[in-house]
Amino acid sequence: MKKVLESNGVIVLYCKLIKGILGEVAEQELDWERRYTVMRLHTAGHIIDRAVADLIGGAETIGAFHGPPRAYVDYRADIDEGLLPEIERRANELLGKREVIVKEVAPENLEKAIYGAPNLGRLPKAEMYRIVEIKGINAMPCTGTHVRNTSEIGRISIIGIERVGEGTRVYYGVFTSIIIWASG
Ligand SMILES: [Zn+2]
Repeated sequence: MKKVLESNGVIVLYCKLIKGILGEVAEQELDWERRYTVMRLHTAGHIIDRAVADLIGGAETIGAFHGPPRAYVDYRADIDEGLLPEIERRANELLGKREVIVKEVAPENLEKAIYGAPNLGRLPKAEMYRIVEIKGINAMPCTGTHVRNTSEIGRISIIGIERVGEGTRVYYGVFTSIIIWASG
C-alpha cells in the first residue's frame, strides 16, 4: 500500500492489485503493528520539526516519509551533521505527555488555527483543512496518522543526514525502552 486518501466519502487506496478486479468491493486487513509504528513516527516528525525550528530558527519542510523501514523529513535548510545530537536532545526534551488534537478547519480560519507550521509552502488548495496540533509544540495542516499522546512515541533518535535537492534530509527513528532483568 502506497497511500490512502479519502475523497468525497470514498476511501481510495493506492496499491498494487494482486487479485480481483479494479472497482470491486475490497476487503482489507490492517497490519496494526506497522500502522502503530507509522503513527508514532509521524507524530515524532512534528516534534522534530519544532526541535529543528528551535535550533536553527525555523525551516520549511519540503518532503517527508514516515517509514518504516526508514523515516525522514526534508528541510529547506543546510543542517550541519554536528547539530544532530542537539536536535535529538531537544526533540526528546519536548516530547513529554502532550495531547495530539485533530480538527477540521475552513480556509478562512486556517491562519488562526495553526502555529509553527513548517509545511505551508506545499499546502494544496482545499475546502477544509485537517489540522494536527501537538499541544504546546505546533499545529499544522496534515493528513497523516498520529498517536493521541506523545507519551506513546517512546524515544526519538536522530540517525543521520543526507543532502537532497534544496535541503537536508534528516533520518530518524522511534524506540521504546526495554528493561531486561537478569536473573541468576
Ligand atoms: Zn502529521
